Amino acid sequence: MLTRGILGLSLVILGFTALAQPDRWQQQVEYKMNIDMDVETNQFTGFQKLKYYNNSPDTLDKVFYHLYFNAFQPGSMMDVRSRTHTDARRGVNDRIFKLEADEIGYHKIKSFKQNGKNVNTSVDGTIMTARLSSPILPGETVVFDMEFESQVPIQIRRNGRDNAEGIRYSMGQWFPKIAEYDYSGWHPHDYIAREFYSPWGDYDVTINIDSDYVVGASGVLQSTEVSKNDKKTAHRYLAENVHDFAWGADPDYTHDVVNIREGLDVHIYYQTDTLKEQWQQLGEYMKKAVPFIESKCGKYPYPVYKIIQGGDGGMEYPMATLMIGHKSLKSLVGTAVHEIIHSWYQLVLGTNESYLYWMDEGFDQYYDEMTMSYLFDENYESRKPMSGYYRYYKGVVESGKEEPLTTHADHFENHRAYGMAAYGKGALALQNLEYIMGRAVFDRAMLRYYDTWKFKHPNAVDFEVIMEKESGLELSWFFDYWVKTTKTIDYAISNVNTVKAGVEISMERMGLMPMPLDVVLTKKDGTIQQYYIPLGMMRGHRELSQNETLMTPWKWVNPYYSFVIDIEEDEIKSIEIDPSRRMIDINYDNNEYPNRNSELEIKGKSDKLENN
Ligand SMILES: [Zn+2]
Repeated sequence: MLTRGILGLSLVILGFTALAQPDRWQQQVEYKMNIDMDVETNQFTGFQKLKYYNNSPDTLDKVFYHLYFNAFQPGSMMDVRSRTHTDARRGVNDRIFKLEADEIGYHKIKSFKQNGKNVNTSVDGTIMTARLSSPILPGETVVFDMEFESQVPIQIRRNGRDNAEGIRYSMGQWFPKIAEYDYSGWHPHDYIAREFYSPWGDYDVTINIDSDYVVGASGVLQSTEVSKNDKKTAHRYLAENVHDFAWGADPDYTHDVVNIREGLDVHIYYQTDTLKEQWQQLGEYMKKAVPFIESKCGKYPYPVYKIIQGGDGGMEYPMATLMIGHKSLKSLVGTAVHEIIHSWYQLVLGTNESYLYWMDEGFDQYYDEMTMSYLFDENYESRKPMSGYYRYYKGVVESGKEEPLTTHADHFENHRAYGMAAYGKGALALQNLEYIMGRAVFDRAMLRYYDTWKFKHPNAVDFEVIMEKESGLELSWFFDYWVKTTKTIDYAISNVNTVKAGVEISMERMGLMPMPLDVVLTKKDGTIQQYYIPLGMMRGHRELSQNETLMTPWKWVNPYYSFVIDIEEDEIKSIEIDPSRRMIDINYDNNEYPNRNSELEIKGKSDKLENN
């Protein structure tokens, strides 16, 4: 056994080192768009002026744009993938394949200019390539002018017109948008199912639409101007420091505004004819939820958030969500909570969703569960382990379909495995880290992660480094195993024996992924003794509570570990590895002594005997 004092001191010293802020270059955009919508044909014309800042050290001889609406055409990659995937997505299937000419989506690029000069473009599905005759030099700023004509597809996935609840326009991923270029190059991913990654900047967007439409959009409304013939209204929005822009429009929207705190209003747009009372209560829940989320995740940086009825399910955008509304109050609140938490884990941190979906959906889910528990469960402080996601994880692991978290989001063989990886294993990553680092340190680390990396596109290593700095622990082993492999955690108490000096507790690492262990011994008189076994690779340990005894570190190469305690064997009621169930041990059955299952077996047998 080690003395706690020395290691505790090293923990404190490490905690004060290296507070440097990251200084990584990133591209920057300024969009100015003017859209004229024809609500009869569901087509619109668009003018887009994009000021593009090449802050990279590289000369760019081409640029890529996403043309998301092109996904909603028979034969598109999204269509083919939706029909041929091993577990084809419910809700899409062959719906794109069956679209008629007036139901498909498209973007037609009518002209494209760089600094006033025409540039040739080519379109391949949802990606437009422009090969530049004048390459953009490092540090140079250029202006791209684009004229385009688009047709809004019938709503199938995320965006579109006339969704299942009768919302006319759900406008996410709706305009030609430049792809992200970063330290690993361009990211011109085809739009197949997911997800997004774009440069930050300011969006100045004017939407011209029939005057009887109510519009809700990302950003702050600057002005509304009714046209001379009274038919249309121009709604001008400004959204600053965002990497996307979304809007919804419907003639039947009711628009409520709820003040959350100084400098933050939540706007809610919903159809009055359906579930009006539930949508009206939503505002009160957001009043309670947002300050709680801010206390855990950091300050929400924008002046508004818009909850707009539309789309399918719920989808996150800067300062806005499009979400469906026909559901129970708790489910409505749940979706709104999930989507607004994406303001932190995606829209402000801006991780690359193609690869780092688990830092986006997973982190969101971790705080989503905590927030819902805060809103609806009086005992939320106990932070129950995420049993639903544990079962989801275990189910996929046992199915043999699990893929590592390094798999590109669109390239998973199986939707269920993607969902588990992004939402489940991502959320469980944080639960594991909370277990490894200790709750208070973990909570501080998450706030530090946000403060350090907001608006900077952190990657997985950036996150790992923050966790290490705040805890003073080496944690790369955790990310190596949890993110890059499908190896699982499984620890067992293998033996409890009386020896000369007392009782020897023997344990075995049955799984391939190592972890530090909390071991709790409960005596028959009800008192408990806690033992903490750090993993050697951590080069330290989490903060210990008063009653915990620090044990010799367990070296990962060793499948076995034992320690002796001065106690009589018949004083022991039980010994358990991680009674908190936060460590994602794939098999809890062998975590306890005496083994509950063997007890059940014995009980089962005796029951039989009695019955016979
Ligand atoms: Zn989500």
